[in-house]
Amino acid sequence: MPLHIDVLTLFPRMLEGFLSESILGKGIERGLVSVQVHDLRQWCVDKHKTADDRPFGGGAGMVMKPEPVFAAFEQLQTPGCHRVYLTPDGTPFSEPIAREFSGKQHLILLSGHYEGIDQRIRDHLIDQEVSIGDYVLTNGTLPAAVVIDALSRFIPGVLGEEKSLTHESFTGKLLDFPQYTRPAEFRGMVVPKVLLSGDHSKVEAWRTARQIEKTRQVRPDLFQQHRHESHH
Ligand code: SAM
Repeated sequence: MPLHIDVLTLFPRMLEGFLSESILGKGIERGLVSVQVHDLRQWCVDKHKTADDRPFGGGAGMVMKPEPVFAAFEQLQTPGCHRVYLTPDGTPFSEPIAREFSGKQHLILLSGHYEGIDQRIRDHLIDQEVSIGDYVLTNGTLPAAVVIDALSRFIPGVLGEEKSLTHESFTGKLLDFPQYTRPAEFRGMVVPKVLLSGDHSKVEAWRTARQIEKTRQVRPDLFQQHRHESHH
């Protein structure tokens, strides 16, 4: 059975284009992964379809109410499904987490809005909380899209060429090397000669040197990890 993903959001239309385009769109079309987006409003049963309310204890903003979210999970969840809340105070999302999610049978991704969601949802319905970075977005729909996109690359068959997964930023704790394509000279800007040499070991050496240079400059934290691991 391919991985099935349910997304719970107040803004389902934000995902329409995303799910039908490009590599992910093709993967869905070919049945390698299935994604269903649900409008949380359908579980808001009062006459104004209220999804949020003022916070107890005071303070600015609104908080998403527990009733619609509990009703949604009770309808959608399956035994063994993995329930994830996207939130800036969650565990930082990463390649290992994407890989782990890609091996699940059923994922439910919950997107928040306003000031966040009632803590009882987090305490009783959620298995894991994930952040896509140290910044605050207005709602969790784009973070859910980021998670789906990143995990889909680990599903066999989604990327045409399996090799494209092995040479990539983060796989070996180093950032990726620069890429060039035809023409070899464009408006006087030339491609590094070594890439035209046909000498594979020289190309490899050049690429590794660029990776080290780039990682040292841009991500000294990753570079330290790489040094540490290559010493063991
Ligand atoms: N008051 C919350 C806090 O400071 O942690 C922020 C709530 S944010 C304005 C609204 C919603 O956007 C959150 O419930 C979450 O679903 C989503 N969100 C915002 N930034 C995010 C991030 N970096 N990663 C994952 N989800 C995020």
